[in-house]
Amino acid sequence: MKYNSIKGFRDIFGKDADIFTFIEDISKKIFKKYNYQEIRIPTVEMVELFTRSIGETTDIVEKEMYVFEDKGKRKIALRPEGTAGVVRSFIENNISQKYPSQKFFYTGQMFRQERPQAGRFREFMQIGCEYFSNASVYADVEVVLLANEILETAGVADKKVEINFLGCEKCRENMIESIKNICKERFNELCDDCKRRSEKNPLRVLDCKIDGDKFKDIKIELCEECGNKFENFKIELKKTGIEFYVSNKLVRGLDYYTDVVFEITSGDLGSQNAVCAGGRYDNLVHELGGPQTSAVGFAIGIDRLAEIVSNNSSQKIVFGALDVFVISFGEGKTLNCGFDVLTKLREEGVSTDGAYFNKSLKAQMRLADSLNSKYVLIIGDEEIKKDKIILRDMSGKVQKEIQIKNIIEEVKNVTSRTIKNNL
Ligand code: ATP
Ligand code: MG
Repeated sequence: MKYNSIKGFRDIFGKDADIFTFIEDISKKIFKKYNYQEIRIPTVEMVELFTRSIGETTDIVEKEMYVFEDKGKRKIALRPEGTAGVVRSFIENNISQKYPSQKFFYTGQMFRQERPQAGRFREFMQIGCEYFSNASVYADVEVVLLANEILETAGVADKKVEINFLGCEKCRENMIESIKNICKERFNELCDDCKRRSEKNPLRVLDCKIDGDKFKDIKIELCEECGNKFENFKIELKKTGIEFYVSNKLVRGLDYYTDVVFEITSGDLGSQNAVCAGGRYDNLVHELGGPQTSAVGFAIGIDRLAEIVSNNSSQKIVFGALDVFVISFGEGKTLNCGFDVLTKLREEGVSTDGAYFNKSLKAQMRLADSLNSKYVLIIGDEEIKKDKIILRDMSGKVQKEIQIKNIIEEVKNVTSRTIKNNL
């Protein structure tokens, strides 16, 4: 019997796994710099949490959610996104009252049963954040800056930030009215999904991959207050130097957004080119039973960002990137010495590996090379007799003999030099 992974699910290993880790590491550093605290939330939640927050007539809830019944006959869903769970936790743990920080980031798997294709998986990773209890325009600007900094640090050169403003209830009603009018005029041209959406949830028509473009010139009138808020947001965002575009048809595929929404796409991706999406959702905490609380956040798709990093030749992520590979031979003294050196180096914090098998020098050198080891230590019978070990610098292909008693100090010196140079 041969087992394969399930359609839309995949294994990530080797350099790809290193790229995921790289993205998570730089993101966490940047989140910390902006004073966001980590929150880890469950992978499963009650189905209603998502139907209430994301919206019953959205694609995610209607078609994409993994829903099942557990042994207690509870209706449970694998989380399709992170915001709903973070908001549930925010309310349940009374975070607005009991916890000093109102800024959180999360990372983890999300699940959506959509058609698998390049850049679209059924299990994918997101890293995102939620900034609660601050309705200021600077909170909006902060999250856009933060998302932009993560993408820039990851090396995304070709990116486009698009923004829009959904406004208050009255503004959204106007928007829905305009969409309904266009839908009426062009009803026969709409796909079956949009024919249905135009009645049940007209905003979602703008997200449609087939019909969305028919609405790209849609003009939305915001009320005076919302118009001013949007202008203010644009002024403040402009001051940061971030280049951005206003897109009237950007509404995002979830129902909870109010006011500012944004999306970042990259020309380095194929047709699934959205790498980050977010916005303000000032009503969700209250709608889910919490106090009236403003909130703004975003989510970055790590799988798509990883694809950009992987294709980016100027972003050098070296698979393995070991400091030292220890080559030793035989069963007895040399192998013992090799293992001893290897253990001591690890104790000193030097990343070290070695092969505990009797392969030829050539085979072990090849392995060290494919693991991208910066240095190799060669311990052979001849060297042991002289109480010496060969230290080889793999970049310059130069080597020298070192006294065994000095080896740990010497390796620590050279590796800390290369580590410093790489920072
Ligand atoms: P799309 O329009 O591509 O379907 P979305 O609007 O459904 O995206 P969000 O729910 O806003 O996406 O999620 C934020 C980010 O998560 C997206 O910009 C994307 O990078 C990533 N993402 C969403 N769905 C998937 C998926 N099925 N596979 C991989 N990444 C995804
Ligand atoms: Mg989607």
